[in-house]
Amino acid sequence: MQGKSTAAIRTKYTIREDTPDETDVYVTDTQESGPTAVVVGGIQGNEPAGYEAAEDIKTWSIDQGTLITIPRANPVAIRRGTYSNDNGNLNRKFPPGETPTTPLARAIWGVIASYDPDVVINLHSSKGIYREDVGPDGVGQAIYPTTASGAAQDAVNTKGYMNEFHLDESFPDFYRFKCGNLIDGTRPLLVHKVDADLDEPGFIVESTRYGTDLQTRCRWELNIVRHLLGRQGMHRTYEN
Ligand SMILES: [Zn+2]
Repeated sequence: MQGKSTAAIRTKYTIREDTPDETDVYVTDTQESGPTAVVVGGIQGNEPAGYEAAEDIKTWSIDQGTLITIPRANPVAIRRGTYSNDNGNLNRKFPPGETPTTPLARAIWGVIASYDPDVVINLHSSKGIYREDVGPDGVGQAIYPTTASGAAQDAVNTKGYMNEFHLDESFPDFYRFKCGNLIDGTRPLLVHKVDADLDEPGFIVESTRYGTDLQTRCRWELNIVRHLLGRQGMHRTYEN
């Protein structure tokens, strides 16, 4: 019908099938040329805001491009509610310029690299707050951009948007979102590998678990992802 975009094609497939790591990849292909984005949640099992948000994001309708979501990157740790799985911290298995060091990390990176994405977003939820003397040490309430062109400005713009529109006044100022340090491809983290190996915008998103409830953290992460994707030219739509 005129004025209506072509229906998106939604597909799903499984990586690490028939292993404890078995997890699903969701692809929303709008069949309209545009950016390719990957969202990864649940790389640590005790950070449910990320994987709950990603479970929602996998269902989003978008206006153009292709959205790939791996909601539960680390199913063993998620089932246990633990930071790590038996191989340690999954987010330390992605050395820049080298092959990822566990089968699960290789499978996740294989998915990401196969799409040659324009942006990769990795959702976390820290126990503390970045550069504040409150609560436990941590890196929450911040968006960490790669060194790729435009990424830092996207993080600054997005944290400003969050603080203006999505931070309830009941939260003290130390909950205001910050732009974190640059992710410069020097550490074996997933988004560092995005910086070093793909040289594309990538973001670590960290909401804090300190004094917050899961629903609030999820809402924050959903708004951050929607805004970051919008900055890349991919907009969430609300048809039907
Ligand atoms: Zn984390």
